[in-house]
Amino acid sequence: MQDKHSILHKYYGYSSFREGQEPIIDNILSGRDILAVMPTGAGKSICYQIPALMLDGITLVISPLISLMKDQVGALNQNGIRAAYLNSSLTPRQYRMALDNVRLGVYKIIYVAPERLMTDGFLELVADMNISLVAVDEAHCVSQWGHDFRPSYTHIADFVANFTRRPVVAAFTATATEQVKRDIWELLDLSSPFEITTGFDRPNLYFGVTDTSARLDYIRSYLDDNPDKSGIIYAMTRKNVEKIYSKLFAAGYPITYYHAGLSDAERAQNQDEFIHDRKPIIVATNAFGMGIDKPDVEFIIHYNMPLSMEAYYQEAGRAGRDGSNADCILLYSAADIHTAKFLIENGTDEDDELDERERETAKKRRYEKLEDMISYCKTTECLRSYILRYFGEKPASDRCERCSSCRGEAEVTDVTDIVRAVRMAVDITGERYGAVFISDFLHGIDNGRMAALGFKRERGFGLLSDTSTVIIRDVISRMIESGLLLRSEGDYPTLSIDPSLDRFLASGKRLTLKVKKAESPKKGARRSGDVPLPKNIDRELYERLRAFRRETADRRGVPAYVIFTDMTLREICAYRPTNVTELLSVRGMGEEKVQRYGTSIINIIRGMG
Ligand code: ADP
Repeated sequence: MQDKHSILHKYYGYSSFREGQEPIIDNILSGRDILAVMPTGAGKSICYQIPALMLDGITLVISPLISLMKDQVGALNQNGIRAAYLNSSLTPRQYRMALDNVRLGVYKIIYVAPERLMTDGFLELVADMNISLVAVDEAHCVSQWGHDFRPSYTHIADFVANFTRRPVVAAFTATATEQVKRDIWELLDLSSPFEITTGFDRPNLYFGVTDTSARLDYIRSYLDDNPDKSGIIYAMTRKNVEKIYSKLFAAGYPITYYHAGLSDAERAQNQDEFIHDRKPIIVATNAFGMGIDKPDVEFIIHYNMPLSMEAYYQEAGRAGRDGSNADCILLYSAADIHTAKFLIENGTDEDDELDERERETAKKRRYEKLEDMISYCKTTECLRSYILRYFGEKPASDRCERCSSCRGEAEVTDVTDIVRAVRMAVDITGERYGAVFISDFLHGIDNGRMAALGFKRERGFGLLSDTSTVIIRDVISRMIESGLLLRSEGDYPTLSIDPSLDRFLASGKRLTLKVKKAESPKKGARRSGDVPLPKNIDRELYERLRAFRRETADRRGVPAYVIFTDMTLREICAYRPTNVTELLSVRGMGEEKVQRYGTSIINIIRGMG
């Protein structure tokens, strides 16, 4: 039998295991159940795929998402590992063929949707099979306390109990709370599992928080500075997703979008365009992402603040899975708090199954999580330290030098004078206008309306001509959030003065705001990220290899990263291997890939002379 190191090298082209992978593999091989908590991108798949290749029988992988199965199986096949998936996306004929092959023992690894497990056909199929391992991906789906409860997961334990010889059960999740862990243990009926929680730090991710109301401008300048990058823009509501999408699409960015309101076909198509890099940017609600295994996502921008740190870290964690540097930027505006509270008050669909008291408890818990999320947006301490502490880890240092706090990209500014000016402007204009009007008035923008209304000659017009309207609007948002200003409901909300505002100004207290340091956004954005290609890399060679990857991927109908990741291409460019043996030492080049594509790659390199 091959050992785990040679399998890692031969099939995956990696030279060493990552944290947690080895003990998990060893424990599975010794017959012990597993409960593994590893952050997104940590490399959970290898933990069950390698034992699958080493164990006698077959491994079943239970996974909630059809799209993920297809990609994972595609990637395994590319690595020379025989695997298949059984789910509703197959035609009856394909399904029958897959079953025949399963019976013939063609596959070592079979991915299956949880709804299929307890069907007669499937139970009959596995009855005579030697199943050595059942790997449960996204195991938190079994818990109502997790953020993705799937009732079909609760049948997994019954399914496993059907076997005369019980297979090893290995559960994987990125959700770390004690309650969810306990549920996984109990509801999957794990038998004294080997428990492991690996470090939550993702050193290759840059974390940034920017306090701004001009979010679309920020995104545009980021995209302009990072033209070749692939990334996800998350927004809170479908309406926002569509608004951002149409503006960026109209401005010519290669972008698509995704939310639960689209038809199945539209969702599948848009997701596919993103995964295959035909549209390298996607704007989406949080409905998008679980199971998206695109390793070369280079940025995740949050247009709105998520409801919890768990949600934020899971979404942000989809960047940089291949280990390359990537940016995770959260654009925060005080208005987000309003939206978040609205969403919490309205509850989720799953809450229907809860009784009144449980609903109240759930709501209270969500408000607590929201507070922690808001603190992340406002903190001036190292963001990485904040994240690690939140997930119960002690950071190695109080400064990571790879977040907006450590880099001093945001500074805390005293904005009390702006507060005073806003008060005066709201008063002078008769408490009849909204934030945009007030900021235009103070900055001195005359769009014709000011003059027509007679405000242009009013005291205070243009008083803050040195302060950007964005900052004035941010201060107004902060004043609303703190209850100093009142905002009416409706499509055209107007501002009025709360009595607490005068008390605040009289008290001598100060109001501060965390603002991005004044610098051209160009410089800021570039500093935050990774330079796409190191200087020593030959761009022409890189482009030729990318073209080769593109053609190959198209021919085989798989995403480009299934052929090679960007990291692998960069290594090839850096080492310029001249023969197959040298090529094998490149990360991501396993034997199967070298056999399939080695000669073409060497020829491309030679062709460059
Ligand atoms: P997760 O399921 O934990 O989010 P994946 O299993 O999708 O993570 O792995 C993330 C990426 O890391 C994949 O591209 C995978 O090939 C890569 N990877 C996993 N293990 C290793 C390793 N030991 N060395 C290098 N890359 C690895």
